[in-house]
Amino acid sequence: MTEQEQREQLVDLAKSMFDRGYATGGAGNLSVKLDHDRVLTTPTGSSFGRLNADSLAVVNMSGEHLSGEKPSKEVAFHLEIYKNRPSANAIVHLHSTYLTALSCIKGINKSNAIKPFTPYYVMRVGNLPVIDYFNPGDSNIATELGRLAPNYRAYLLANHGPVITGSNLLDAVDNAEELEETAKLYFLLQGQDIAYISDSDIRILEKKGV
Ligand SMILES: [Zn+2]
Repeated sequence: MTEQEQREQLVDLAKSMFDRGYATGGAGNLSVKLDHDRVLTTPTGSSFGRLNADSLAVVNMSGEHLSGEKPSKEVAFHLEIYKNRPSANAIVHLHSTYLTALSCIKGINKSNAIKPFTPYYVMRVGNLPVIDYFNPGDSNIATELGRLAPNYRAYLLANHGPVITGSNLLDAVDNAEELEETAKLYFLLQGQDIAYISDSDIRILEKKGV
């Protein structure tokens, strides 16, 4: 895929997510690796519904702004994930309704916020560790994500929202949507006696992937 095609794909996927309510206002950000040292990302405060392919921000792996509009300060934690998870080539960060609601629950299981009850969640995400609350822009968010990145594909920032990786941008967006829908089901199932996926089936699914 050429850089221009990647720019256009990012704009199209962001608009699609915005139109379907996964992103609102100027919240959230997307990034995709253009090559080993350059990352294409959404400008600071930009709406997923109104991005322009030609003005997207480009930064290098040290966080220096190379071209386009100013990147979000949250790009720092994207870079830390890329450095620690070589298989990740794209990242989606949302303040989506159900996952953010989940991130605000006191006493949530920090090692895995959603115990699996559908196979697709296991195949796309598998495990959702929670990072303690830090104010937006705090460097501890990047540090904690970098620590978890080698072992997990998605992460939940407490009182903030999800961060999801993928092998490319389309994969990361599909993973993000699956995760948000799983959180929605989690709330729909509150008060119900849930039939969870067994540990042995989880192990088989984890090997299978999507
Ligand atoms: Zn955020």
